[in-house]
Amino acid sequence: MRALTWHGEQDVRVEDVPRPQIVNPTDAIIEVTATAICGSDLHLYHGRVPSMQEGDVLGHEPMGEVIEVGDEVETLEVGDRVVVPFTISCGSCWFCENDLYSLCDNSNPNAEIAREVMGHSPAGLFGYSHMLGGYAGGQAEYLRVPYADVGPIKIESDLSDEEVLFLSDIFPTGYMAAENADIEPADTVAVWGCGPVGQFAIQSAQMMGADRVIAIDRVPERLEMAREHGDAVPIDYSEEDVYHRLMELTANRGPDSCIDAVGTDAHGTGLVDATDRMKRSVKLEDDRPYVLREAIRCCRKGGTLSVPGVYVGRMDNFPFGPLMNKALTVKTGQTHVQRYLGPLLERIEEGEIDPSFVVTHEASLEDGPDLYRKFNDKEDDCIKVVLRP
Ligand SMILES: [Zn+2]
Ligand SMILES: [Zn+2]
Repeated sequence: MRALTWHGEQDVRVEDVPRPQIVNPTDAIIEVTATAICGSDLHLYHGRVPSMQEGDVLGHEPMGEVIEVGDEVETLEVGDRVVVPFTISCGSCWFCENDLYSLCDNSNPNAEIAREVMGHSPAGLFGYSHMLGGYAGGQAEYLRVPYADVGPIKIESDLSDEEVLFLSDIFPTGYMAAENADIEPADTVAVWGCGPVGQFAIQSAQMMGADRVIAIDRVPERLEMAREHGDAVPIDYSEEDVYHRLMELTANRGPDSCIDAVGTDAHGTGLVDATDRMKRSVKLEDDRPYVLREAIRCCRKGGTLSVPGVYVGRMDNFPFGPLMNKALTVKTGQTHVQRYLGPLLERIEEGEIDPSFVVTHEASLEDGPDLYRKFNDKEDDCIKVVLRP
């Protein structure tokens, strides 16, 4: 089958790889009909995520048709149309039973590597390094879905692929980010990063009744999307000082909640940014905490910092003192996608939101390598890519 594979920094190829087979009786195989490229795939593209191997199949935002099920699969049948969450979860461990699906104790066969680094292993993820399971991803013609009764959600209405595909990651991820921001009706919420996750965090904050949402980015079309679809107040950080502008907008109090939807590859300005880049290039740090530092500085005292952005390792010059003295609450984590699938599908079916607004590019799998480049370079106003294998 054809698949997009990882070969090192800025080297994604489309290749023939073996078609997946049922391995465990709880597996299903799907024929992928649509699959997206995620902002977090760019961390792989930049070689930031450890334990990737040449030839790994990428992708964690797929949907498709079930073509084969293992003997113990009960809820899915051949022919079902499903969206597959990026988190792989067993459904029966302590974490899954407590709705903490992205922390599943059983789905990472390489848990020892993760334990060595982090003390405990989170769940396995599709197409996201060997430390997180070594599972082949969904930017391919076919995908093996482990624990098929726990992850995939059946789509029984006639909604288009583009309307439901983002249940796999970015819509629940933006939604959980807003939920983690503890939003109250009179609140001002600031969102750093207006990529797809930022866009869904903005929309979700509005759904939760935020009084005002402020969107921070430097890419004009992303700020425009946040304004048009998310009714957000835009701040272009390449033109304005974010701290001063936020203080101006909040009578010096600062936003009640700050959401970092950027993560490890944050761009900053000036000497601090140059220092972070230098430190990372000589491996003195793994993450550039520019947004985290700024969010901690801007957040109102006693406010909440929600971090859906992906970080991979250690960071330097992290302002823990200000965080402590301002009594901020920090909430983060990979998304517990399975928790949100049903409720968010309902919101889509009821017409409360149409997630397809983020799609800017659709193409075949064969065009994948070129679209990774375009998405990375933000060329051609590229915000979200959907591939059709
Ligand atoms: Zn994703
Ligand atoms: Zn589990």
